[in-house]
Amino acid sequence: MTTGRPTTPRSHRRARSRNIRVLIALVAAAAILGIALVVVPMLRPAGPRPHFQLPVACGETWQLSTYPGHDDYDVDLFPTEGEAWGRPVLASYGGTVTEAGINGSVGGRTPDNPEGPRGRGGGYWVKIDHGGTWETQYLHMLEPPLVTVGQRVSQGHQIGLLGSTGNSGAPHLHYEQRRGWEKVETHFDGAPSGITTDERERILRQVSNNCPTVS
Ligand SMILES: [Zn+2]
Repeated sequence: MTTGRPTTPRSHRRARSRNIRVLIALVAAAAILGIALVVVPMLRPAGPRPHFQLPVACGETWQLSTYPGHDDYDVDLFPTEGEAWGRPVLASYGGTVTEAGINGSVGGRTPDNPEGPRGRGGGYWVKIDHGGTWETQYLHMLEPPLVTVGQRVSQGHQIGLLGSTGNSGAPHLHYEQRRGWEKVETHFDGAPSGITTDERERILRQVSNNCPTVS
């Protein structure tokens, strides 16, 4: 029999169009879920700026610097006195730890081998969520962080030791403040640091007021 249309291709076509409809529905559902998970939190209004302090010990003078190719707003911290390796890295403000581990790779730069192989990225790092979409990041630490994800920390809590892991030339702390999904100018003790661009080298000095509060 060659008259009439064979039935199988039509049912295949029907099945295929049903599959396409199911696929479109799945893609639409995934897109809506994606918007809910990614976009909605970004629309949260930023809270007031926390009263951040330098992430280093009370009373110490540190160098805050940046250089061309760093990134706008990024700050590198070096002590002006004493050994840099192993210096305490402190929480700038209270919050919840959201990252505590390795960013990129650790590499092989240690106090015994300061010119060892460079790692990639931030090395041992910590990120703290301060609420109101504010967060701080601490990179290149010497050893695995002293805090864990989900841990609540208060201002001045030691989160790690200063080092040179990741893509780092010399022991220092790379530090950032973010509001929402954007880096912003760092503020310490209520004042802007003045480090806003990496177009030119910039070196400042500041005394840490990350001091225990009397209660
Ligand atoms: Zn840096």
